[in-house]
Amino acid sequence: MFYHSTRNANATVDSARAVLEGLAPDGGLYMPEAIPAFDWRQCLTGSSQEMATQILSALLPDIPDMRALVSRAYTGKFQTEDLTPTVKVGPYTVLELFRGPTSAFKDVALSMLPQLLTAAKDVCGQEREIMILTATSGDTGKAALAGFRDVPGVKITVFFPDGGVSAVQRAQMVTQEGNNVTVCAVRGNFDDAQTGVKNIFAACQGRTPKYELSSANSINIGRLAPQVMYYFKAYRDLLDRDEIALGDQVNFSVPTGNFGDILAGYLAKLLGLPVGMLICASNANNVLTDFIRTGTYDKRRPLLKTTSPSMDILVSSNLERTLYLLSGCDCALVADLMKQLNTEGVYTVPADLKAAMDREFWAGCCDDAGAAAVIGKVWKEQGYLMDTHTAAGWAAAEEYVSQTGDKRPMVVLSTASPYKFPAAVLEAIGGDTSGDEFTQMERLEAVTGVPTPKNLSGLRGKQELHPGVIDKDKMLEFVLGL
Ligand SMILES: *Cc1c(COP(=O)(O)O)cnc(C)c1O
Repeated sequence: MFYHSTRNANATVDSARAVLEGLAPDGGLYMPEAIPAFDWRQCLTGSSQEMATQILSALLPDIPDMRALVSRAYTGKFQTEDLTPTVKVGPYTVLELFRGPTSAFKDVALSMLPQLLTAAKDVCGQEREIMILTATSGDTGKAALAGFRDVPGVKITVFFPDGGVSAVQRAQMVTQEGNNVTVCAVRGNFDDAQTGVKNIFAACQGRTPKYELSSANSINIGRLAPQVMYYFKAYRDLLDRDEIALGDQVNFSVPTGNFGDILAGYLAKLLGLPVGMLICASNANNVLTDFIRTGTYDKRRPLLKTTSPSMDILVSSNLERTLYLLSGCDCALVADLMKQLNTEGVYTVPADLKAAMDREFWAGCCDDAGAAAVIGKVWKEQGYLMDTHTAAGWAAAEEYVSQTGDKRPMVVLSTASPYKFPAAVLEAIGGDTSGDEFTQMERLEAVTGVPTPKNLSGLRGKQELHPGVIDKDKMLEFVLGL
């Protein structure tokens, strides 16, 4: 099966090369030429790993031995064998995506990506080692480190802004073990670190560096495709609990940043899964809410700091893939819209694209106070503790139901453990927020009785293996010296 750029249908590559390259040469994102025929009913009968195997085999048919890759990615690494459990909470079903090795939803994709990447490397006959370069503002770095740790033929370097991540996130990264991992703080903010990484890619282009450089972010189809599985898994759980009959539609509310998670839900629908409305939930950075409601994407606004930092975005990269699909694969239109975004900072989609979007997506947002109110209410009324990102998803689900009266079952995707944001969660349930983050975690457990994930509680006192800090203009030198 062939893939091509969202901006140009003429240059095609096979699915293995799409994974290996990550970004298409024209700056577009790789998409399959056609959605493959897929037996979605059969897929629902398997285990989570079997679902992942079938979905990934269909989307990435040029990568062999998918079952073995899936097993290597997931077996024994998640808290439960079903990888992404669901919990019935009041009127909704919560899909817990944070039960992986680093308590981040990104574990689902970043456990699988290294397996896909190394297999793609073999298929394409690429002999040089791959160096994964990532700048992180928090969760991606640790999930990528855990996923790529000790994977043969790949090295990984993670840069994070010195003083710009939480104490727990820093501890997660600087204690990382593994013989192919490097972690380094950069004096500057996240943008400096990210610009530094982009400059390294630019400086190495055309040269033949020691490594083939690659990235772990969600522009890679190999990071997007593994996320389709948990929509099937959630649907299967609703079937098993007799909450739906086969073929009934289910709505999903998704805390959204780069649009990878929610796009995976749309891909599940295109593969046949009876998905109803996909609800895009945002925080006070509501560029996506405005876009889905009006058809105009306008990034000319300040970026606000919120208690749900993984949703603090102005440019949502996988929206490009969504526009491509909703426009009936109109590459010229997508290229033109992305150009307008780059040059003017704003674009408006044609009326037929807006109409197609209205059939599939709905959007809602809530600010920090709104998220805190949800956390407090659901804890008090249902005894279920959720994090700030999940709370935005819950709030959008409530807004959707109250505005539309839609009675189809609702699944709220939970993208982080409440222990990742202990201060905001403690405050929302009326707890004492004094002390450092580790103290807050202990208090949150004492107050709620919800156990702290072991990978987080075990961090305190763990040896720091990567204490280094460098200036932002030394990043290239640093990488060339590895
Ligand atoms: C990355 C992340 C998101 C956003 O997911 P996208 O796929 O980028 O839309 C939401 N919540 C948490 C906790 C995340 O880490």
